Amino acid sequence: MQVVWFKKDLRIADHAPLFQACKAGPCLCLFVYEPELIGSEEFDGSHLDFLNQSLKGLDQQLRNRGGSLVTRFGEVTQVLSEINERHSIEALWSHEETGNSLTYERDKRVLAWTKERHIPWNESPQSGVVRRLKNRDGWSAQRNQFMAKPLTPIPERIPCVKDVDTIGLRGHQDLGLRESRKTNLILGGEVAANELLNSFLHDRGQYYSKEMSSPTTAYDSCSRLSASITWGCLSVRQIVQALRDRQVELREEKKSGKLTKGWLTSMRSFDARLSWHCHFMQKLEDEPRIEFQNMSRVYDGLREDDFSVERFELWCEGKTGYPLVDACMRALKEHSWINFRMRAMLVSFSSYHLWLHWRKSAVFLAKHFLDFEPGIHFSQVQMQSGTTGINTVRIYSPIKQVKDQDPDGVFIKRYVPELAGVPKEHLAEPHQMSLAEQSKTGCIIGKDYPSPIVEHLTAYRSARDRIYAIRKQDVAREEARRVVKKHGSRKNGNRKNGNRKNGV
Ligand SMILES: Cc1cc2nc3c(=O)[nH]c(=O)nc-3n(C[C@H](O)[C@H](O)[C@H](O)COP(=O)(O)OP(=O)(O)OC[C@H]3O[C@@H](n4cnc5c(N)ncnc54)[C@H](O)[C@@H]3O)c2cc1C
Repeated sequence: MQVVWFKKDLRIADHAPLFQACKAGPCLCLFVYEPELIGSEEFDGSHLDFLNQSLKGLDQQLRNRGGSLVTRFGEVTQVLSEINERHSIEALWSHEETGNSLTYERDKRVLAWTKERHIPWNESPQSGVVRRLKNRDGWSAQRNQFMAKPLTPIPERIPCVKDVDTIGLRGHQDLGLRESRKTNLILGGEVAANELLNSFLHDRGQYYSKEMSSPTTAYDSCSRLSASITWGCLSVRQIVQALRDRQVELREEKKSGKLTKGWLTSMRSFDARLSWHCHFMQKLEDEPRIEFQNMSRVYDGLREDDFSVERFELWCEGKTGYPLVDACMRALKEHSWINFRMRAMLVSFSSYHLWLHWRKSAVFLAKHFLDFEPGIHFSQVQMQSGTTGINTVRIYSPIKQVKDQDPDGVFIKRYVPELAGVPKEHLAEPHQMSLAEQSKTGCIIGKDYPSPIVEHLTAYRSARDRIYAIRKQDVAREEARRVVKKHGSRKNGNRKNGNRKNGV
């Protein structure tokens, strides 16, 4: 019996392990609810909602082709042992996973288990991430070749072994999780993911490049595919290839003078971000310690002793006294998704203004991001905290961002109703209103809405000085060269202090 172990690849399309296992013989399609992952501090009830929707969809797709999904609860090697005792496993098939330390250690246990029993474990890549990469030179070409390869066909029939026990879908209570009160804007499963992709490529994506940064437009104009990619409801290669088809169509429209403005530029930006996806994941694959430690070790000790629980909690609650920061945090906690620029601002605010070490903030956000992807997440959080040592130090002003991204206060007022009566000219800094204005607008600062947790300019200058005091040292430059060599993009050439683009 062939065991196809579904992990974060909850689809049947472009699924090499499923396709190959089906050719080898009768299969058992397995998903394991792993207590260690579900109990981790990064897992949330909203993740389970998405996961179960995806599993339900996967089971349906398998059934349409004569198969079905078997689910189990437990440590993977124990589950495999139980199955092996009753059914004798001939081979294990799965995708390679670039996950966190828990999945990495689990995979090592599974490898040992298969080796002891002489059961082959066939792993296939599912993105541009390359295992055991020697160095980054030439990586991009390798990734692009992988993306250009034909998609793996969906097996016409899935020959499944009958009479294997399954526990079906496990709910929150079964798993000791709190029910999620979030309204996930993104639904799990292959069908929903394809609908999202199509609506983006043919309808919503036109002004993507212009509208991705403002939270008032990003919910519609961004693809919002990240959770579907993270959980593998679509492969990145499926998306890249659908994008290529769309680009051909758009170029034809351009030739015949029918093309509407915005499309081609937007699709180019989208393409770049899909390659960043793999580029960031490769960083964690190459250096797993960055889940916990600074990418550039010269920043060790920079913030560790300054952690303020009080500041951290106010940030988590969306009560910092900076309206856009608070609105973003509350919106994220309501919907499990926020756009790139606002993620960057949230982290910049916690790491620079509040001078909090990035690790706790990263874990908190991971729990609330439906798309939590360790490879992207920890690298991005570090990039926005100045600890990669190679990226431009970007300290977002929570005041200027209001003027740039939400000048009319539409987003702020939706998520911070305390500010509903505050006129837009005061929304960036409501604490600057006179007492008379505060009374008139029905928002007394310090009572109805918090006073700023820190003073922006003072905090900004202090953070900038502390970061640059390290950054300008020879040892920091030396370490930056090491980081660039290990992780830097080779595409645009790296400037002295690292590349300016978000993607490197
Ligand atoms: C602090 C911080 C943490 C982040 N954590 C995650 C995370 O856990 N999971 C995650 O998928 N993305 C993460 N991102 C990257 C990015 O914000 C999200 O991928 C994006 O906002 C998701 O929305 P979308 O699917 O509409 O993206 P789109 O803009 O439509 O982009 C399409 C896809 O490209 C990839 N992508 C987009 N931007 C980036 C980027 N800057 N770096 C790498 N890949 C990118 C994603 O897979 C995304 O789904 C993080 C960014 C920051 C600043």
